[in-house]
This record gives sequence, C-alpha cells and structure tokens, in this order.
Amino acid sequence: MIPASFDYVAPTTVEEALAALAQYGDEAKIIAGGQSLLPVLRMRLNAPEWVIDLGRIDSLKGVRDEGDSILIGAMTRHCDVATDPLVAEHAALVARATATVADEQVRHRGTFGGALAHADPAGDLGAPALALDAEFVIAGPGGERVVPGSEFFQGLFETAVSEDELLVGVRIPKHTGWTAHYEKFVRVAHQWPICAVGATLKVSGGVIEGAAIGLTNMGATPLRAAGVEQALVGQQATEEVVRNAAALAADGAEPPSDLNGDADYRRHLVTVLTRRAITKALGG
Ligand SMILES: Cc1cc2nc3c(=O)[nH]c(=O)nc-3n(C[C@H](O)[C@H](O)[C@H](O)COP(=O)(O)OP(=O)(O)OC[C@H]3O[C@@H](n4cnc5c(N)ncnc54)[C@H](O)[C@@H]3O)c2cc1C
Repeated sequence: MIPASFDYVAPTTVEEALAALAQYGDEAKIIAGGQSLLPVLRMRLNAPEWVIDLGRIDSLKGVRDEGDSILIGAMTRHCDVATDPLVAEHAALVARATATVADEQVRHRGTFGGALAHADPAGDLGAPALALDAEFVIAGPGGERVVPGSEFFQGLFETAVSEDELLVGVRIPKHTGWTAHYEKFVRVAHQWPICAVGATLKVSGGVIEGAAIGLTNMGATPLRAAGVEQALVGQQATEEVVRNAAALAADGAEPPSDLNGDADYRRHLVTVLTRRAITKALGG
C-alpha cells in the first residue's frame, strides 16, 4: 500500500528537529533509517501529517571516544556500527549483534538510534546495550538528559523518549579486552530472532572476572540475566560452570508465546543459547 500523504521536513541540527517536534506535536513522526517506520506507514498503521527526517543532522552520526566510554550517535547506520574500530575494541558485543541485524540492505539504511527508539522486543540491539550498562542521551525542550538502560526500555515498543524529545546518542562504558558473542536463533535468515543471547566476558588466568549477559525476545523489553552473571563471576571458565550458569537464564523472564514458539519453548531455548553464547565468547 502507499502511505497516506504527509508533509516532510529535513532539519540539519538537533535544535531545528526539536523545534519541528514542538511545532507539529503529535501530528509529527521522526524518521531515521525508515526500516521500521516505512512499513508502518505503508500499512497505514500510522498516518502522521508531518515526517521529520533526521538524515541530514551530521552531529548525530558516527562513534566518538569519550575517555572511559564511547558514544554512538543515534543516526549511525548499522553497517557503520558493525565495522567501527572503536565499537570493535570497546563494545565488541554491540558489533557482533549489529552484524546479525537483517541483511546488508537494511543495515545500510537502518540506524542504531532508530532501532533502540523503536524498542521492538525482538530487536537485536537492546539486550547488548543493556548488558553493557549503556546510557541513553535524550534531547528535549529543556536540554539533554541521560537515562540508564534499566529505565530506557519501558514496555512493548515503549521507551523513555517522550513525543517532544529525540534520542541523540548512546554512551557505552568501555569493555576493552572483553570477549563477546551474540547467539541468535532464527527460523528465517536475515530476520528478527525467536530468541537471542548476548554474552560478553572478561577472563584472566582462566578465571571469569566479569560477565554481562543480555536476553532478546524473552519479555516485553530486553533483559539482563543477572543470575547467570553471578554464577559466572569469580569462577574458573570450565564447561561445568558454564552449563550450570546457563541453566539459570530463564529465571524471572516472562517470554511471549507466538507462532514461532510458546513461552516454555523459549524458556528452554534461552538456556541452550546462553550456554552456546558463553562458550563461544570464551573461544570455544
Ligand atoms: C526486512 C527487515 C528485517 C529486519 N531484521 C531485523 C533484525 O534481524 N534485527 C533487528 O534488530 N532489526 C531488524 N530490522 C529492523 C531494523 O533494524 C531497523 O533499522 C530498525 O528497527 C529501525 O531503525 P531505523 O533507523 O530504520 O528507524 P525508523 O524506522 O526510521 O524509526 C523507527 C521508530 O523509531 C523512531 N525514531 C527513530 N529515530 C529516533 C530518534 N533518534 N529519536 C526518537 N525516535 C526515533 C521513529 O519515529 C519510529 O517510530 C529489520 C527490518 C527489516 C525491514
């Protein structure tokens, strides 16, 4: 279907974009890469009168070194995140997960901020961001505010970004030297996962010194598998330790039931994927 007609504005600064949001209010919709919004408009599930395109705001693009952390601009495309040297060195889990998003075509249009602002529970980037203790930088009429991952994802397709605000970037504390793997279970190639697990670990002398585990599509929002992390930290990186820790992955999760699998199936699947993700992050 063809989208309902709308007017279009393409600001070149964050200030101009915020002014447009203030002017057009709930008649406006932000477009980033358009990979999720355009299908919605084409199916006429949403029919904004104004579309505000962030594509010409250069300050929202790219990855910056901020000392103890890196900042990924909201309009950085998936293909650029997946190949960025700062991301590879300091947030390897993000690079691994981004490389699994959709296909090359989608990765050349879709953006890091667009995917996180969309907050699809099956989206691949929320769980890695949460696991890495990312902070979300949001700009609004009153200036900028910073929201931790635990408060950013508020529900199904719902985030802390209000209608008059923009996500401008995501700050990720450096996890330099941490190994990582994102294990994604799909029924169809190049698509969202039925369930996925991101694991990133710091290992020294065979002992796991740090562990961060994020779960995708195990609830309305991305989840962190705190029980698994606790069972790993301080332990020798053995097969038995990994297996026992992974068995805890579904604790506290309330996964959905849909045509791809019911909740019990996902509860089992996530323990298998967690074991694989940790094992592969350990180099196995
Ligand atoms: C065929 C196909 C397969 C896909 N497979 C996967 C997959 O395997 N894994 C996966 O994770 N994703 C997948 N996606 C989704 C893809 O990652 C999109 O890029 C992403 O969901 C949205 O990013 P975008 O930049 O295109 O945002 P848009 O579609 O432009 O916007 C998405 C939503 O976020 C809002 N928004 C965008 N940017 C901002 C901002 N800076 N501040 C506030 N609000 C904002 C928009 O208003 C809109 O509501 C797939 C998409 C397609 C079409």
